[in-house]
Formats: sequence, structure tokens, C-alpha cells
Amino acid sequence: MTGAGAQPGAGAGAGTPSGAAGGTWPSATTALVGVMGDPIAHSLSPLLHNTAFRALGIDWASVAFEVRAGGGAAAVAGIAALGLHGMSVTMPLKEEVAAAVDELTPVAARLGAVNCVVVRDGRTVGDSTDGDGFVASCAAESGFDPSGRRCAVIGAGGAARAVVDALARAGAAEVVVLGRTRERAVVAAALAGPAGRVGEEADVADAELVVHATPVGMGADVGAVPIDWRLLGPGQLVVDLVYHPLQTALLRVAADRGARTATGVGMLVHQAALAVERWTGRVAPVTAMQAAAAGAVGGGS
Ligand code: NAP
Repeated sequence: MTGAGAQPGAGAGAGTPSGAAGGTWPSATTALVGVMGDPIAHSLSPLLHNTAFRALGIDWASVAFEVRAGGGAAAVAGIAALGLHGMSVTMPLKEEVAAAVDELTPVAARLGAVNCVVVRDGRTVGDSTDGDGFVASCAAESGFDPSGRRCAVIGAGGAARAVVDALARAGAAEVVVLGRTRERAVVAAALAGPAGRVGEEADVADAELVVHATPVGMGADVGAVPIDWRLLGPGQLVVDLVYHPLQTALLRVAADRGARTATGVGMLVHQAALAVERWTGRVAPVTAMQAAAAGAVGGGS
């Protein structure tokens, strides 16, 4: 493994994310990043990162680390100590890691959550690429620019807060938050500043972008639609951050009602693409990453 200032080699080798010249992979000079969280075994992050490294032809590799709640601070210390270049962070560690890194970007500080650690000169910098990844996915996959638009976000947890913050930074005219717990909805809406407010379900009818950011529709809830489907219709883009299943009941009913729809795979891919860019300084090969994600989850987004 190389230190933080490493210049990873180029040249892709067959069957490897990138090829160490003439040798086995990974090698003693492969630059390493990863993803940490719990559960982690089904994470798509290593696939997305390694697809990007292969497409870029650089000698980098990404692996998954199972780190349980309470282990975030020790893991952050290990990132720098081992000379890793960065780390994606997922449940349940995003807040713990925010408290443990050397520095936070303004976005991560506002959210109190980190999904991407970047190592700069041996210091750990905590960033959050979830919200910007969401906005980038709307532009890339749906041609949707939030600037001047009315948006509704259903949910007030970590994903919702990242999306609310990013929509406001992207110039949304209004970001209405619909939350089960009013106190959390108030906190989420405040992230949008003057554009944010806590709303009612009926507000969904006026929204040009509807983002679903609760777990409703996953697991035992599969088939559940989190809002009154009669509020959905033509002229709306409906995005479900849930991507297991890929085509949720919400997306099916929204499409039936004439709305445009997008799955949560777009946000997953684009937040990972931004992480790759933070780590490597290279433009991420989003199309290759999107294809890898589509293959893994069983369809396009
Ligand atoms: P979280 O922090 O636990 O927040 C979950 C939110 O959903 C909370 O506001 C919670 O309400 C609300 N909620 C939970 N069960 C509900 C129910 N039965 N009815 C109404 N509201 C309910 O979780 P998260 O990290 O924000 O994740 C939310 C969803 O987004 C998950 O499905 C996750 O898989 C998905 N996600 C997708 C991506 C992606 O890249 N596509 C990224 C991150 C997350 P309270 O406020 O009352 O607790």
C-alpha cells in the first residue's frame, strides 16, 4: 500500500480494477480506498469504485470494511495511519465519523454527517456527496435542474437532509419537507433556509420534483406507497431513493399517473462518482459506473 502522496500506476489488466505493471494485483503500490459500515457485505460501493478505477486505468482498489456502531473513531484513525486515500461511509457511522475526522467540509458540517472521507496531507477531511450526487443524478438522468423549481421531500432522516440541503444550494424555489416526526422535519426544512418549510401531504400535488426518502417500500413494506397516489401526475419527476426493489410501488403508480420517474440508483452512482473524483482528482466515468450498478441491481435507473 502506498502513502497519501502516492502516484498510482496506470495500465488496466484483465480481470482487475487496474493493472500493476507486469505483476499480480493488488500490489505493494496499489492505492487503497474502501467503504465502511454495518451491514456492509451487500454494499455496491466497491463495485462502483473499482469499475471507475478500471475505466480510468489507474492502480487503485476499493474494499469493504465491516465497522460496527461505536467503531467509527478508531476506524477514522486507521484510515490515516494505514495511508489509505479515502473511505466511503455508510450506516450507522455517518454521524460518528463526522465527529472523528480532522476537518469537515461546509456541507458535512451543516449536515453533521459524513459519507466520504478524503485524506489530504495525512489529515482526514469529512465530506458529504449524497446531496450533490442526488442533484447530479437528476440532471444526468432526467434533465431536471432544481433551480427555481418547487420540490417536496418525503422523510426527514439523513438522506432527506442531504437532499434538502443540496436542492436549496442548487437554487430550488421551494423545498417542502413532509416528515413523520415534526421536530425532525423542522430541522430538515431549516437546511433549505428561506426556501424550506414543513409541509402537508397535499403539498405534493404542487411539487415539480417529489423525492421519497423513507424506507417505506422496502422489505416487508414492499408494495406500500408512502403518500396518496392521487397527488401524483404529469409534470412531476418522482424519485424514490429506495432501490431495493428497483421499481418500487411508488414509482409504478407515479408512472401510471403520467409522472416521470427515477430510481435511487442514480443517487447511489453519482455520490460514488463524486467520491472517486475527490480521491483521485480525475473525472469519474459515470456511464461505466451506472452500467455496473444496473447490472448489480437488475436493471437501469
Ligand atoms: P434514516 O436517517 O433512518 O431516516 C429515515 C426517515 O424515514 C425518517 O425521517 C423516518 O421518520 C422516516 N420513516 C421511517 N419509517 C417510516 C414510515 N413507516 N412512515 C413514514 N416515515 C418513515 O434513513 P436514511 O439514511 O435517511 O435513508 C432513508 C431511505 O433512503 C432508505 O430507504 C435508504 O435505503 C435510502 N437511501 C438511498 C440512498 C441512495 O443512494 N439511493 C442513499 C441514502 C439512503 P422519523 O423522522 O419519524 O424517524
